[in-house]
This record gives sequence, structure tokens and C-alpha cells, in this order.
Amino acid sequence: MTLSPGKAKSNEPFLLEEVKLISHSNESNAGKIANDQKTIPPLLPWWTWVAPLFIANIGTWLSLWFKTDPGISLWYLPTALGIIMVYWWGPRALLGIYLNAALFAPLWDLPWKWSFLYALPETIEVGLSWLLFVKIMRRSAWLPDLATTARFLLFGSVLPAALANVYLVIQLFLLGNIARSNLWDNWIVLFSADVATHLALAVPALISFTKFMIEKGWAKADGEVISLPLLPDNRNTKVDVIFIGTVFISIFFMVILTSIHDYWIVYGVLMIILAIRYGVNIAVIASSWTGALALLLPPIMKNQLGLPTAAYSDVLIFNLDILFLCAVSLLIGRAISDLFNDITERKRTEEILQKSEERFYKAFHDSPAGLTITSLADGTFIDVNESFLNMFQYRREEVIGRTSVELNMLSPEERAKPIQQLRDQGRVTNFEIQLRAKSGRLLNVLFSTAQIELNGAACALTTTLDITERKRAEEKLRASEERLEILHEIDRALLSAHALHDLALNALVRIRRLIPCPRASVSLFDLDKKEASFLTADFDNKVEIPDTPITFEEFGQRVIDVLLENKPWISEDVLKDPQATELDERLSNDAGIQAWLTVPLMAQGQLIGALNLGRPAGNPFTRADADIAHDIANQLAIALQQANLYEALEKELAARKRLVSQLEANNAELERFTYTVSHDLRNPLVTIKGFLGMLNKDMQENRQDKIQTDFQRIASAADKMDELLADLLDLSRIGRVINPPEEVNLVKLTQDALELLDARIRSKNVTVNISPDLPVVHGDRVRLREALENLVVNAVKYMGAQPNPVIEIGARDDEGERVIFVKDNGIGIESKYYARIFNLFEKLNPAGEGTGIGLALVKRIIETHGGRIWIESEGLGKGSTFCFTIPDGEKVHRETSTHVDK
Ligand code: ADP
Repeated sequence: MTLSPGKAKSNEPFLLEEVKLISHSNESNAGKIANDQKTIPPLLPWWTWVAPLFIANIGTWLSLWFKTDPGISLWYLPTALGIIMVYWWGPRALLGIYLNAALFAPLWDLPWKWSFLYALPETIEVGLSWLLFVKIMRRSAWLPDLATTARFLLFGSVLPAALANVYLVIQLFLLGNIARSNLWDNWIVLFSADVATHLALAVPALISFTKFMIEKGWAKADGEVISLPLLPDNRNTKVDVIFIGTVFISIFFMVILTSIHDYWIVYGVLMIILAIRYGVNIAVIASSWTGALALLLPPIMKNQLGLPTAAYSDVLIFNLDILFLCAVSLLIGRAISDLFNDITERKRTEEILQKSEERFYKAFHDSPAGLTITSLADGTFIDVNESFLNMFQYRREEVIGRTSVELNMLSPEERAKPIQQLRDQGRVTNFEIQLRAKSGRLLNVLFSTAQIELNGAACALTTTLDITERKRAEEKLRASEERLEILHEIDRALLSAHALHDLALNALVRIRRLIPCPRASVSLFDLDKKEASFLTADFDNKVEIPDTPITFEEFGQRVIDVLLENKPWISEDVLKDPQATELDERLSNDAGIQAWLTVPLMAQGQLIGALNLGRPAGNPFTRADADIAHDIANQLAIALQQANLYEALEKELAARKRLVSQLEANNAELERFTYTVSHDLRNPLVTIKGFLGMLNKDMQENRQDKIQTDFQRIASAADKMDELLADLLDLSRIGRVINPPEEVNLVKLTQDALELLDARIRSKNVTVNISPDLPVVHGDRVRLREALENLVVNAVKYMGAQPNPVIEIGARDDEGERVIFVKDNGIGIESKYYARIFNLFEKLNPAGEGTGIGLALVKRIIETHGGRIWIESEGLGKGSTFCFTIPDGEKVHRETSTHVDK
């Protein structure tokens, strides 16, 4: 069913609240009365204490004036006025009524002394009326409905009048005013007159003026005063006014011309017509008009009651005529008014309903939010608005009668959750969910649902807001914030860039947050060598990346070409690329990466590398991704370059430090050298000088034997000097490029060295063992031989008293390093001298042979080959082992000597 303004029924759920509200206000009178009773009623004006006396007095005088034969008061007005006053002002009115009656009893030819008794009946009548009708019945003074009116007639008028007059006639009889036989006649006339005045005077006044009095604050009554207008809404045309006027005038003439009793039926019909047509107001006014005219006109115009003979029965009939007219018109009028009231009320309600339906219909269909009414039982759409249709691109007929699941807007599981919430809590507020439009596009929506009843069935009224754009904007904002943050982070890294690798890895982790992808790497290019190397990679799927540089061909020349133009390279599926490289295929096979985005890293207009992002096929990178990556790449490139410079600078500094400390060591050595050279060279010179003196003396004395020794001493000192100078020269040569490095077989080299030393070895009877596994090294053959010679010479030299001197030359593997050793079983060395003996001119036994240069020389030779030399000895007398390493060629002869070559 589709909702339309005409079709909507009043029991439709969205109107329920409104309906309830209306009916509530309808029922509310009783509630209101109860409420009002709790509040303190406003005080009545002071004059309401005294007014009753004066008003009752006016009534007395008027009544007196109308008093006609047979000498009884036909209509005694103070009682009717009393009812009005007591209803408005409460029991305080009784005071004035009683006083008036007591004061003016003599006017009615009643004995003065019994005034206090004669005043009682009318006070009792008014008091009883108030007690029964207002106090006990709790009815309202303005007779708002038929039931109240009927109760007034019975308890407010007939019963009080009957009782009060019973009392009156008995009292009259007892005081001797009337005979026993007249009791009934008197009672019935008095009673009918009282009721007639109630109806002709009190009722119209109460109905017509109570509202005005209360509004002025001059009277008090319970509850809200509702009174119909004088004429009902649809009966207030000019014709009606003319008609009513005509009727009133007609009554006037009829009363003058005829007796009311003869034509009571005509008056009755007229009253009924007025009552039926105009309700209670006109009816009571018309009947009291008729009554008043019938009562007043005859005495005024003919100086007599409108009856030929004023017998009791005539008075009674007149009273009953008036009573009948008034009662009938009052009751019918009241009934009709209630009907009018009902009709007006219903009309008003219907109008409100109609309006609210129209408003709902308009609100539903004009709402910019998507609105739907769905059946809670099966989820079918009962009605949807235009915004909803526009949002999901459906036509109305495609939607009505079907469910969101049938329309594939969401899955049954997705629907279950909010529906459950709706059932549990009666409503769902701002539930965020994705719904599919007809085109398949997913929309982010926020929906709120309230459970309603539609024709007795449970339904859901749902508001759907499309927040896709909002979400996208938020996402964009978040991304751009993150992008900014990452750029900042990279900026910060740029300022404190240290390790190239860490920097790149940091950036990759952040980039992957911004552009989700399982793989990201940074490669650096060497444009001269046309080589690419991977600096670092960050990815979920661990796949080996080449750790040595690869050629541009292997990296993908087509990619490099694009990057060189400072453009990103995007591939949706690298396997569809005929130029895909082996690396591409490997990454596709091993990590499932087929979509690529590679952006250039440019520093000062130079391509220095690339930022590579990879995803599986089917999820290609967009231009937006490329833009983001590009931004980051620019920063990253600068940071990388910065870090690169920093690293280079660090290296340079370290190298310099090393050079400085080497220089310092060399300087110290040079100092020691200068000192030792001057000292050690001086020794033979002193010897020579001393023996020259002795030679001179010996020659003068011509002591041939001594001269010979002197010459020998001088020659030996000169030899020593020569040896010293030769060693020094040797030392100064070390570290200089003398011989080009070559393959040197150490077995062969050792044999050569031993050959040269053969005489010495033999003289000391030393056994030398050469291990055949001595390695082949890359180095300066002559220098290496020199080193070996020195070590062997020392081993021979410092054998001490060893009876079985043995030298062993071999090699061993020490933590993957080839260590060559020369081992002897000579005097050994104390561990505290291990370092010192490699210094220049350092001799453990100063008197011993040798210059103290040998080991310094060996050390320098080994170090110029990039190796190390050290000594192992178990202590004095336990032999020494000199160990050294010669790494693979490369480093030999790279360093230059700081020594002066002569
Ligand atoms: P020298 O010309 O005195 O041999 P070296 O520099 O060759 O000078 O040796 C320094 C000192 O190291 C020697 O004076 C000696 O005391 C000690 N030395 C060298 N080789 C050995 C060894 N094989 N056994 C014991 N002491 C040694």
C-alpha cells in the first residue's frame, strides 16, 4: 500500500500520538477539576458578602410589584436570585438572603415578630439547592451538559423547592396564616412558582453569565467553563437572526393578545423549534422571555394577571405552563447543544487528524533524508520517499513490496543486527552501515529506525542519511593529515638523518600506512654504472631482494626511462607487460605482487633512486596514490641524499682520525728512531774514536800486537755501524711500492729464505720443519721473504742453550682466517714484552747481538700487506711462536710510507 493523504486512516500509527493527545484533552475536564481543587482558589471580591442582601431586596420589591390577586406572591424572585448567587459566591450568599427575607417579611403582611421564621424557608431552599447540586453532586453552575441539567432540575430546583415549601406551608399553618384545607393548594402553587422562577430566571442567568463572571474573577466555579456561542456555528446567518427576532416579537404579541394557557401548545412548538435549531442558549432565553412576558405584561397592561380569575388552580396552571415551556426548551436545547458540541468536537478532531496526516505525508515525501516504512515481519517496503529512491537509484515500483535483501542492498546477516536491536529496544539510532545502490555502488549510510504500528501490523519507520561524501571527505582529511604528518616526520628525519637504511625503512612503514600495499621498497641508482641496488624493503611477504646491485636491464629499463622524466610508473598487472623482467616475475610468483607504482627519487634534478610500491593484481594504484607517493618521494630523496652526505662525511672523518693517529704513532716512532739512531750510531763512533786514540798511542809506542787489535776493533765498530745503517735503510723502504704484488707460494718462499740462512742454521745445528700446507698469498715476494728471514734468524738467534733446537714453519686455520706461524723451542719471551718487541730498536737484552730493528721491520711488512702479527709464548724457556696473517691481495701497497727514503 502506498500512503496518500486521502487514504490514510485515523488509526494509522503515525497519528496515534496525535489522536491520543486529542482524546486526552477531551477527557481532561474531570482531571482538570481534580487538579484545580488542589490549587488554592482565588478569593472572591469583598462585595460578594453584601451584594446578596441588595440583590435579594431588589427581587423582593419586584415580586411585590407583581403581587396580584389572590394576594399571594406568584413568583417570588429572591429564591431564584439566591440560587444564582449561591452558585456563584457560595454559602455566604445565604446570609444576605436570610436577612432580606427577615427584614422585609412585614411587607408581605407577615407579623414582624415571626420574621425570623418566615425568612427560613427561602434560605433553606437556596441552601438545599447549593448543598445538593453543587456540594454533593459536584455539578457545575453553568449546566454544561444534559446530565447536569437534569440533575439541576431534580436536585437543584424541584427537591429544594418541594422541601422548603413543605416547611413553609406547615409553618404558615402553625402560625395560623392558612387553614389546614389550604395546605396542599398553597404548597403546590408556591412550589410550581418557585420551580418556574428557577427555570425562567436562574437557569438563563447561570447559563449565560457564569462564564463572564468567572472570567472577571467575580464568581467561582470548579473546572473550565466551556460555553457554546449564543448561536451555533452553522446557524448564525442573517436569516437565523431575523427568524429568532421574529419569533421573539411574535411571542410578545401573542402574550398580549392571548392567554398563554390557551395556546401553550403553540408556545411549546416554538420553543422546541428554537431549541432544536439553536440549542440551549436561545431556548432558555426564549422560554424565560415568554415566561417573563406572560407574567409581566398582563399586570402592566390590564392591571391583572393574564387569567380571568386568579384562582389557585389558574395560578398553578400558569406556573405549570411556564414550567413546562422552560423545562422542555431547556432539556431539548441542552440535548441539541450537546449534539452540536459533539459534532463540532468531532469535526475539530477530524480536521486535526486530516491536517496531521497531510503534514506527515508532506514531511515523509518532501524530506531530504531517505524515509521508508517497512513491514517488521518480512522486511518488505510499504512506502519509501523520493530522497530514498534518489539515494539508491531505484524507481518506486521496483522497491515497494520487496525487501532490502531481495534488492541486494545488504546481506541477511547485515540486516539481522539492526532488526534485533529494533525488536529489543524499540528503536535504532544512527546505525552506520553500507548499503548497495542499484548500480552496485556502496553507500555509507546512517540510519535510525523507530517501530510503529500500521493498520495493526508492526512496521519500521526508517530515516536513511547518505554519509558517503562525508566519510570520503573525512577519509580525505585524515589521509591528508597523515600525509602531512609523514612529510613532517620525513622532514624531521631529514634534519637528523643518520643511517640511510633506517631512514628509508621508517619512510616505508609510514608510506604503507598512507597507501596500503603489501610491499614497499627503496632502490638507489648509479646512473654511470647503470645499476640499481635495493636500499631497503618493507613488506608483509618476506621475499628475497637482490643484495648486490642489479643492472638497469634487470631492474627494468622501461621503468628507468619513465622515472628519468620525473614521472611515476604505474602498472596494473606487470605480467601483462611484455617487457616484464625476471625480478617482476619472481615477485609475482613468490609474493603475488603484480600491480606496481614506482615513483622517482630526485635530488637536485638528478634521479637517485625510486620508491617502489606493490600490490596483488586487481587492486591497481591510482593517480591519487601516485601523487601522494610523489610528494613523499621528493622529501625522501632529499633526506636520503642528506643521509648519504652525512655517512660520507662520517667515513671521511674516521679516515682522517685514523691518519692522524697513524701520523702521531709515526712521529713518536720517528722521535724514538732519531734518539736511538743518534745513540746507537754514537756507540760504534765512540768505540772508533777511542781505538783511534789508542791506535795513535800504540803506533807511537810501536806496539804491533796492539795495533792489530785496534784496527780490528775499529773495523768491527765500523761494521756494526754499517749493519745499523743497512737495517735502517731497509726499514725506510718498507711501505713503499717497490715490487708489484704477485702470487707468492709461501712453501717456496720459505725454502728460498732458508737457503740464504743455511750457514747460520747449520752452525747452530737447528732442525727446520716446513709444513707443506703453507698457503699461496698475494703480495710483495721480496718483502715477504725478508719478513720470514727475520723471523727465522731470530728463532735461531734466541735458541739459548737448547740442545735440540727445532724451528717449525706452518699454517693453521683460526676462525676462518689462515694464520702462518714460525715456532721455535728457544728462550721464549715474557708476556709483558709481547707488544714492546715489535717497536723499533727494542731489544730485551741490550748487550745482545742484533739491532732491535728486525721485528719492527717484520711488523711493517705484514701490516703493509693488510695483515696482523703477534707473538704467542708459554713464557721464558718455553719457546716462542710468531704468528701473522696475509689477507687476500687487495690492500697491499695501498698505503704510502711516511719514512724518508734516502
Ligand atoms: P734484534 O736485532 O735484537 O734481534 P729484533 O727486533 O729482531 O732485534 O728483536 C727484538 C728482541 O726480541 C730481541 O732483542 C730479542 O730479545 C727478542 N726476540 C726476538 N725474537 C725472539 C725469539 N725467537 N725468541 C726469543 N726472543 C726473541
